[in-house]
Amino acid sequence: MAYRYDHILIRYGELSLKGKNRNSFIKQLYDNVRKACTGFPSLEFEKQHDRMYIFLHDEDANKVCEVVSKVFGISSLSLAVKVPSDIEEIKKACLEVLPLDQDKTFKVAARRNDKTFPVISDQINRIVATTILKNSNWKVDVHNPDYKIVIEIRHDASYIMTNKITGAGGYPVGVGGKAMVLLSGGIDSPVASFLMMKRGVRIECIHYASPPYTSQNAQDKVLELARLISGYQGEILVHVIPFTNLQLAIYQNAPESYAITIMRRMMMRIATEMAKKRNALAIATGESIGQVASQTLESMNTINAVTNIPIIRPVVCMDKVEIIDLSKKIGTYDTSILPFEDCCTIFTPKNPVTKPRIDKCEKYEAKWDFESMVKQCVDQAESILITPILKEDEIF
Ligand code: ATP
Ligand code: MG
Repeated sequence: MAYRYDHILIRYGELSLKGKNRNSFIKQLYDNVRKACTGFPSLEFEKQHDRMYIFLHDEDANKVCEVVSKVFGISSLSLAVKVPSDIEEIKKACLEVLPLDQDKTFKVAARRNDKTFPVISDQINRIVATTILKNSNWKVDVHNPDYKIVIEIRHDASYIMTNKITGAGGYPVGVGGKAMVLLSGGIDSPVASFLMMKRGVRIECIHYASPPYTSQNAQDKVLELARLISGYQGEILVHVIPFTNLQLAIYQNAPESYAITIMRRMMMRIATEMAKKRNALAIATGESIGQVASQTLESMNTINAVTNIPIIRPVVCMDKVEIIDLSKKIGTYDTSILPFEDCCTIFTPKNPVTKPRIDKCEKYEAKWDFESMVKQCVDQAESILITPILKEDEIF
């Protein structure tokens, strides 16, 4: 039988630190990995207390790695070959799975978990290295090898692993409860969404649409952004809120300079109701201190005043360039910069206040029955389930 990579080994991330939550974390991670892999029907999964295995059968190893490397709670993963704990079999497997026709450097690092194995680690290293040197043009490089070949001798079997792939880190999505993220079409809110999920929080998104002032294209762009980040938790529910009437009422009842602040307060009121309805424990936004007039600390106070649930702003202290870098890394940047108008861009006043006062907001808001309009927005929300179906050119 010829050897080939037959499974993926998954090493847990930060969750290993969490004593008594450990089992529930591992279970959540296991569920998340399985869910992320539903596109690969032949896979088999096995979880242990310190690692997880995916048995590939006839699935494509690289494609599975690509999907699994997005699942939070994993520190690293490796393609691996399972062999009987026998030095001849180990040698044979190395020769068969490594691309020995290319010119590469390597290092062998054997570890004996099973101390009853008759050959000690140093000897295993030497034996395997000699075999590779004899059968290829490969050279040893102990400091910076192209291939670090890790051989792990365990009781049941031995595992040969080549390059370690860095995992997504963080906590398994779901262990941290649920939050509502306000998702605009911009650069910041998809990054904020990513960071929430990274800490184990499951998200649902809210998008405020103001047709006909905002187009279908603008909404499609937001759904595309949701699709791009949905892989991190399996799927995302996006609640599209028809915001036009409320927005027009704001402009009829408040001076232009206060319109943005009051609009944000309305967004928070709607988000609060949606959060209650959907059992979410927090609201998250892509706001960052000082980025625009409505993102000063004074503004944040005035906006926060309408709700009691925590508002989390994951990118609050990041520079725009840092947020942009992260958006490129997670693959949302190119979509975020598509030039479709947002409900904020359309009604942008010339001179928004940078230090809005709560009492003034309350005075303007008292001029009309905004509460029934907020309720209407919540009742008319259209909830769309987004899944991460990969496009052909995104598959590695
Ligand atoms: P972003 O890149 O996220 O759009 P921005 O710099 O454009 O950020 P603003 O437009 O001021 O910032 O919005 C700040 C935050 O308010 C957004 O990050 C988002 O969380 C929320 N938000 C703004 N507009 C909408 C919208 N139409 N629907 C949902 N949330 C929104
Ligand atoms: Mg925006």
